Amino acid sequence: MSMRRIHGVGIGLGVAQGTVARMAAPLPPPADDPSTIGAEAETARVTEALAAVARELEERGEQAGGDARDVLEAQAMMAEDPTLMDEVSQRLARGATAEWAVHDAFAVFRETLKAVGGYLGERAADLDDVAQRVIARLRGVPAPGVPDPGHPFVLVATDLAPADTALLDLDKVLALVTSEGGPTSHTAILARAAGIVAVVGAADAAELADGETVIVDAAAGVVTADPAPEELERAARRAADRAAAASAPITPGALADGTPVPLLANLGDPAGAAQAVDLGAEGVGLFRTEFLFLSSGRAPAVAEQRAAYEQVLSAFRGAKVVARVLDAGADKPLAFLNDAHEENPALGLRGLRALRANEDILREQLTALAEADAAVRAGGEAADLWVMAPMVATVEETEYFVALAREYGIRTAGVMVEVPSSALLADRILRHADFASIGTNDLTQYTLAADRLLGSVAGFQDPWHPAVLRLVQEVGRAGAAHGRPVGICGEAAADPLLAVVLVGLGATSLSMAPTALADVRASLRTHTLDDARRIADAALAADDAAAARDAARKAADAEHREGETQP
Ligand code: PEP
Ligand code: MG
Repeated sequence: MSMRRIHGVGIGLGVAQGTVARMAAPLPPPADDPSTIGAEAETARVTEALAAVARELEERGEQAGGDARDVLEAQAMMAEDPTLMDEVSQRLARGATAEWAVHDAFAVFRETLKAVGGYLGERAADLDDVAQRVIARLRGVPAPGVPDPGHPFVLVATDLAPADTALLDLDKVLALVTSEGGPTSHTAILARAAGIVAVVGAADAAELADGETVIVDAAAGVVTADPAPEELERAARRAADRAAAASAPITPGALADGTPVPLLANLGDPAGAAQAVDLGAEGVGLFRTEFLFLSSGRAPAVAEQRAAYEQVLSAFRGAKVVARVLDAGADKPLAFLNDAHEENPALGLRGLRALRANEDILREQLTALAEADAAVRAGGEAADLWVMAPMVATVEETEYFVALAREYGIRTAGVMVEVPSSALLADRILRHADFASIGTNDLTQYTLAADRLLGSVAGFQDPWHPAVLRLVQEVGRAGAAHGRPVGICGEAAADPLLAVVLVGLGATSLSMAPTALADVRASLRTHTLDDARRIADAALAADDAAAARDAARKAADAEHREGETQP
């Protein structure tokens, strides 16, 4: 067979190569034959099997620890769910076998979850796994699991059960490819946490055969089957570069010609500050303050907020900290801010709109931020506090937010550019805002009209899309014209090659999950600003996201080759 590419959703930035070992096929479904031992005996069998499977899942969770424990405990609870047991009992009472009753009752629940879609829909695989384990137990056969071909391998599966992902032997599993599952499936979450190179939701993975050689490129979300030798070589080089970047000395972010590109951290709570400092974050480019609000049924008091903000500001004395005021709504619903039912919450009262409708909450947050800044300043060197508003769509909203922030003595007030309208009018917005920070996650969602949480449209949720890049360029140009900084704080900044493109389009700083800093730092070091602009032009000229990525890669490789031939 000749080289072919299979597309999915990449988890993380790694790349790996190896031979395929496929997960064993699920157990064949049981036949709907009448029970020969009677309902009472079947009930006893089911009760024993469900309890045994719940116990096993709990034990696996204990063994794996961390995120995996929570996932496996949730699965154990599925096995012991009384509503499910009721469904099973009804079937047993009608004369079904234990195997059929479990199979059928779980299938009904699965369809219900699938119909709900989103996060719950992605739990369907977890439920399937519980059913398979229970049926295997009833039949006295081992549950389908991870293969062991006797050498390291690339694991290919329909979807992986959390129980299997949690205990993957990382010395043996070089990478993971699934044909189902979206970016928020448990397989994805656990692969991310364990640092496994993974591509999920790759529908065509079903055609990968045992023993076939593949490259799994998580950064690109592509699995290349039967790759050419030069592709294998390039993947090996990238993997080696990555390993080297992870252990390289930490230096400030800069291009090869010395152009500084500060590399900042995205923080979800103050607890992440220490790791960000250790990994060389030069400041915080996005401090998501939602953590204070999402877990409570009311807005936290000013004093509580101030304490959390002080923690982050004092971890970054002498550095920039960009705090975002509360971004509620859509994927981050908050009943006390917006309890109205909305058919399309992503297009509803969210972000700054929701805050404006509850201005007291915004005022309290600005008070807490200003007080935290003053307290840290009084105790030594201050952090440079910048404050920005989420989901700004108009010039008028910009003026509103900046004026309000100034009332509280915030010196640097800016806006997130996450809605195409604000990218298109960035030249006017930046007359009022001190800076812009592009949230590529939402900007991509709104530009491509693709829900960022929905696996079925994950293919559209790609910040490499030239339409998104063009909007970034618009903001970059406006920033340059007004002398205003333009940061990037969406996931796109964590993609080492896209980071170069974004700088080429005019981004002046990049903010990302701290674990991505080393890769991006190394990537920037290999290109000058002129290179970055040329690579960005190549991506902009493409018709779609995949072509933009390929064009940028080719342009970047060409720069490398030129560099190598120079004395
Ligand atoms: C974004 O939308 O890119 C962003 C950084 O904000 P969040 O992911 O918190 O919505
Ligand atoms: Mg956003």
